[in-house]
Amino acid sequence: MSRADRRRQAKASGRGAGTLDGLRKALETASVPGTPKPVLDRTRAILLTYFDTSVMQGKSYTQIVKELAEGLPATGIAAVELQQGGTPQGLACAAGCAFCCILTGDDGGTITEHEAKALYTALAPLAGQSDGRSWHPKACPSLDPETRACRAYERRPMICRSYVSVSAQACEKVSMEQDADGPGVLAAQTTYLVAHSLARVALKGIAKVNTFGMSEIAQAAVEGDSEAEALKRARHNPRSLDDERKRNTEGYLSALGH
Ligand code: SF4
Ligand code: SF4
Repeated sequence: MSRADRRRQAKASGRGAGTLDGLRKALETASVPGTPKPVLDRTRAILLTYFDTSVMQGKSYTQIVKELAEGLPATGIAAVELQQGGTPQGLACAAGCAFCCILTGDDGGTITEHEAKALYTALAPLAGQSDGRSWHPKACPSLDPETRACRAYERRPMICRSYVSVSAQACEKVSMEQDADGPGVLAAQTTYLVAHSLARVALKGIAKVNTFGMSEIAQAAVEGDSEAEALKRARHNPRSLDDERKRNTEGYLSALGH
């Protein structure tokens, strides 16, 4: 925890937020505007279960704040949801199919600090080796240019885990910045973004909750930056999480026919 975070925590403790009870209350009452109520209620309930379990396990206030700020619960909750949901039928996804790893957007997707550090740790030992950009100039640096497999597969962020498609041809079109039906993100990505947003609102005045650009972290790691440099280079503008959640929620509502 940085000195600035400790100052914020000390200031907040005067209002009772610097206690486990205060933090639970903040999670219970945090609001994330624009999120469908059923999604918000369900995500909050799971986040509170994480909180209560952490307390029962004897985790300290400081440890729980750090985990929430770095996005560990958001990723864990969404990973369980992905696992419980099983693999949807009819997906075209297969090893070596990597059009989805051609990152046509600004920065390859929003990831938490926990994910950014995990991706950095997986890729830093590969610094200097040829990477995905030898295959395609916009490919993720995590990609192996020969096999087109993810070199950080076990540590890939939630956006990579939840992005699927029923058509590789459609993904190829999207990689060329053309519209196509087929690719989409599973609902676990919504849970992840809402859980991290709830954590950010609950930790206001206690700790900073940052997000990072996936491709920038991967690029920094393979270019030999230190972890601190990589995080600084990839850190998002604070509004990015809200913007990403709103985009995702609009997709969620249109999928429901709203
Ligand atoms: S999302 Fe598209 S490009 Fe990625 S593995 Fe699935 S079918 Fe292939
Ligand atoms: S981290 Fe791995 S799965 Fe995700 S975009 Fe990069 S290469 Fe693809």
